[in-house]
Amino acid sequence: MGRIVGIDLGTTNSVVAVLEAGRPHVIANAEGGRTTPSVVGYSKDQELLVGQLARRQLVLSPRNTFSNLKRFVGRDWDELDDSSLSVPYTVRANDRGQVRVPCPVTEREYAPEELVASIIRKLVDDASTYLGETVEAAVVTVPAYFNDAQRQATRDAGRLAGISVERILNEPTAAALAYGFDRSAVRRVLVFDLGGGTFDVSLLRIANGVFDVKSTNGDTQLGGNDFDQRIVDWLADSFQKEHSIDLRRDRQALQRLTEASEKAKQELSGVLSTPISLPFIATGPEGPLHIETNLDRSTFEGLCPDLLDRLLNPVQVALRDSGWAPDDIDDVVLVGGGTRMPMVQQLVRTLVPIDPCQSVNPDEVVAIGAAV
Ligand code: ADP
Ligand code: MG
Repeated sequence: MGRIVGIDLGTTNSVVAVLEAGRPHVIANAEGGRTTPSVVGYSKDQELLVGQLARRQLVLSPRNTFSNLKRFVGRDWDELDDSSLSVPYTVRANDRGQVRVPCPVTEREYAPEELVASIIRKLVDDASTYLGETVEAAVVTVPAYFNDAQRQATRDAGRLAGISVERILNEPTAAALAYGFDRSAVRRVLVFDLGGGTFDVSLLRIANGVFDVKSTNGDTQLGGNDFDQRIVDWLADSFQKEHSIDLRRDRQALQRLTEASEKAKQELSGVLSTPISLPFIATGPEGPLHIETNLDRSTFEGLCPDLLDRLLNPVQVALRDSGWAPDDIDDVVLVGGGTRMPMVQQLVRTLVPIDPCQSVNPDEVVAIGAAV
């Protein structure tokens, strides 16, 4: 008998975890990372790249690199709105109205589930290597608002990856399981999940091991990436003012700017100021040009007030729909890498004035719950 793992198949990052000797823990991938970017691409030589390697060519080879695939899983073409179609690669409908992703380099077309299957395959392969045993099955998480077609398509992706999907579990439920809330009598839990490209709020009532999703809300177009973009613009605007060159128009430069901005954002969750150094980012009339600067947390926060504002309304609507007041909430669970930002944590505290649960890494908590 092979092993079973828990998989958080995220929009931006995926995580695989396993229960060993009764304790759940995250399995690092072959590159050593605990999270694997949910990105699939093909290199110039038509080699399949999954995870970090694919992510590295995201800006450089935008038409052959596929991110944010989760928004297409189990959706028909006519269900998609314009904002979901705003990806750098081509998406089209086949004659049956299904979403297809053409890839110039392989001259082939893929179903989104097929590409997602490659992500699952990598997670499972890396887990098998770590465990020294084959992995045959998984519990895979999906957002609470996923409909039947989206859940079925997630199962199909698992099957295409060669594993059996034992259970499809709601992400907020998984997060609550990671904190052992299933063992308590009655609890009202708010799960606040700020991922890379999406924001989800869920209100759960947990009673004697039974999970009831009372309400969900969110913003499918808001995530950590928007905070990165503010830093990209801050750097590019000041560079443009000084040198009259727009770095955003040069793919190579933009890839480096994007990566450095995300790194700076993440570092500012831990320190008050961080250096940003991008040597040889462009060439001017007098030779090579560099970016060498510092970003303070307070400056960064000053770039994002409207993004923070957009986190408020979904929480308030979700509370209203559940019929609960902030005082009725017993626990707040922080999920998603974006909740590591101090300004986001502060905002959550103003909405529900209790100490949030954050002892489990927010970007790993869903996979941990799936393993449980
Ligand atoms: P998803 O659920 O969308 O797959 P994750 O929960 O992995 O995504 O969140 C990814 C986002 O979290 C990215 O925007 C990433 O930059 C951000 N993130 C990760 N670590 C930190 C950190 N230390 N500070 C701020 N943001 C972070
Ligand atoms: Mg997530």
